[in-house]
Amino acid sequence: MTKQLNEEIQHEVDKRRTFAIISHPDAGKTTLTEKLLLFGGAIREAGSVKARKASKHATSDWMEIEKQRGISVTSSVMQFDYNGHRVNILDTPGHQDFSEDTYRTLTAADSAVMLIDVAKGVEAQTIKLFQVCRRRGIPIFTFINKLDREGQSPFDLMEELERVLGIRSVPMNWPIGMGRELCGVYDRMKNQVELFQGNDHSTIEVRKVGDFRDPVIREMAGDYLADQLEQDLELLDVAGDPFDFEKVRAGELTPVFFGSAVNNFGVQTFLENFLQLAPKPASRNSTSGPVEPTNEKFSGYVFKIQANMNPAHRDRIAFLRIVSGRFERGMSVKHVRMGKDIKLAQPQQFLAQDRDIVEAAYPGDIIGLFDPGIFRIGDSLAMSKDLEFDELPTFSPEIFAKVSIKNALKKKQYEKGLDQLTEEGTIQVFTTAGGFEDTILGVVGQLQFEVFEYRMKGEYGVDVILQRMTFQFARWIVDDNIDPSKYRINSTLVKDKKGNYVALFENEYAMRTAMDKNPTSKFLETAP
Ligand code: GDP
Repeated sequence: MTKQLNEEIQHEVDKRRTFAIISHPDAGKTTLTEKLLLFGGAIREAGSVKARKASKHATSDWMEIEKQRGISVTSSVMQFDYNGHRVNILDTPGHQDFSEDTYRTLTAADSAVMLIDVAKGVEAQTIKLFQVCRRRGIPIFTFINKLDREGQSPFDLMEELERVLGIRSVPMNWPIGMGRELCGVYDRMKNQVELFQGNDHSTIEVRKVGDFRDPVIREMAGDYLADQLEQDLELLDVAGDPFDFEKVRAGELTPVFFGSAVNNFGVQTFLENFLQLAPKPASRNSTSGPVEPTNEKFSGYVFKIQANMNPAHRDRIAFLRIVSGRFERGMSVKHVRMGKDIKLAQPQQFLAQDRDIVEAAYPGDIIGLFDPGIFRIGDSLAMSKDLEFDELPTFSPEIFAKVSIKNALKKKQYEKGLDQLTEEGTIQVFTTAGGFEDTILGVVGQLQFEVFEYRMKGEYGVDVILQRMTFQFARWIVDDNIDPSKYRINSTLVKDKKGNYVALFENEYAMRTAMDKNPTSKFLETAP
């Protein structure tokens, strides 16, 4: 029995790939996701992921779509099968929905796909998300999108990756022309040309060639583009980084693919290469050492809690990344922090609920548990009572607001709500140090304020007033002999929940000045 279970888990782990797509809004993430799902046969028509994006708040429409197509799609994870692999794409919300959840979701991924607009290059949100992935050392694959439009030269883009993100890159394919001149891409690994025919087509014409000097390319692309390809690739062969699997796995070298998501061009090649090169679910550190995915004993951790935005449903959904073992519906597990057993059945049913109840799930999979208020971000579920996964990282807040209540009589509920939502990781709370105490909230995305306001009213019956403040940076000050008066000039000094000093700055200049004036202090981006 054990041997059988072991083999089953090993087999399931081997075929899984769990990743997130990181990009700046508009780079084409929705489009690329949709094409990937199409290859997986998870959806049959283009436009459904789009439809979902458009009707984001009318979730029921999306559920309807899911039901019809019989796929397991939650608002956070999309799963499909391709060539014997089981692929989990974690959704990292864009722009307006950006929050700490976005960052934390990346902790549940084993690799990342960085999507870049060929014209815009590396953009602000890409940088932030990249850095979080970098810190974890996960492999990062780059897809440079919109090749059917005029963009920057591929060499400039590679240089930008290095300069802005500090990562070396190795092009797996290379554009032959761009924009209106786009003829195709040259696959450097397989020595073949994928011809671009425009429009959305699923069969791509591929021509095997000897190498990039093959006269056949000249016939297809004309002298001008063929010359350019030759020059570029000669230079790359001499001066570029060779493909190095170990470096890719260590997140030190990013394989780069060029294509056009909307034209479904280069997407399949990308997917196939990605599945080959990307790692299967990795182990996670815990109080009992690293937990290997093939460990038979089930374990996992909560990385995200989503409050139900529909007032008729007060419950929340906790997203769990399975780290080891096999999950079975109805199984009993230890809720380690609370020190008690819980059954993962009703009411902690799957998010997929009546649509697609998951009966079994394996390491690398994400499951949604109905949360009647027992989960916090970072909670571990395991078979043994003292297995706790490493704490999830916190992130430096960048947007701040002063919070107060409309009705002073509700102070008790207000404080309770503030406490609970902080614990859940929804917001970070600071109080002004000394004198009259103001409460300041810090977040990384505006949406977090909206969720906070909404939940304070919905769950605690409290109307809050939020006043945006002009701070942009928070730094935790570590200094045994801190002299608070020294910080009052360039910043506002506050304390976090644990009593640590935190300096809030309005701009980088003020922060630099404070650093210069206090050489004995350490300035940390997050709590020590
Ligand atoms: P997201 O915000 O990153 O999810 O981006 P979307 O997938 O919604 O794409 C943003 C816009 O770029 C849409 O108008 C897409 O049709 C367009 N787009 C996506 N991929 C391509 C591409 O390969 N070429 C061109 N020209 N446009 C694209």
